[in-house]
Amino acid sequence: MACPCPAWRRGRHGSSPLLNEGKFLMRCPFCGHIDTQVKDSRPAEDHVAIRRRRFCPACGGRFTTYERVQLRDLVVLKSNGRREDFDREKLERSIRIAMRKRPIEPERIDQMVTGIVRRLESLGESEITSRQIGQIVMEALARIDTVAYVRFASVYMNFQAVGDFDRFMAELRPQEIPDETGPS
Ligand SMILES: [Zn+2]
Repeated sequence: MACPCPAWRRGRHGSSPLLNEGKFLMRCPFCGHIDTQVKDSRPAEDHVAIRRRRFCPACGGRFTTYERVQLRDLVVLKSNGRREDFDREKLERSIRIAMRKRPIEPERIDQMVTGIVRRLESLGESEITSRQIGQIVMEALARIDTVAYVRFASVYMNFQAVGDFDRFMAELRPQEIPDETGPS
């Protein structure tokens, strides 16, 4: 029985083809080999996720996967009317771009993304609009980092004119980051 991955065709495959011992296979993102190995599993994000370090025996590639609770399957209704499955990775990428070079712990960003996903899931709808996602992300960013917020908002709102952006900045100014050292 042949494995459908390129490593098999190149003769660089291990002994086991497609499915072995009923385990769930994760495809290598680098070479497409279907049978990668888990080297290490440990809790992440304060036990919200399980982080697995994986190794591809065909190409030697290393990558990480996360196992997370998903309360609800979400579908995103985009502004062009199309629907697509909600993609946490995509959301996380856009937030990381906004956070680039900002003094924020990666762990804090993970927590923030998880918080956003929980909020989306708890809206009670299986279909959400990209606009709703954008609003929730902006609220979350505004609480953490003003620069990241402005970056995200400027991309998200797709400003056409500089004047619009100036007005937006003017509205932003009074809204400072909440003081987290206040009385509790
Ligand atoms: Zn590989």
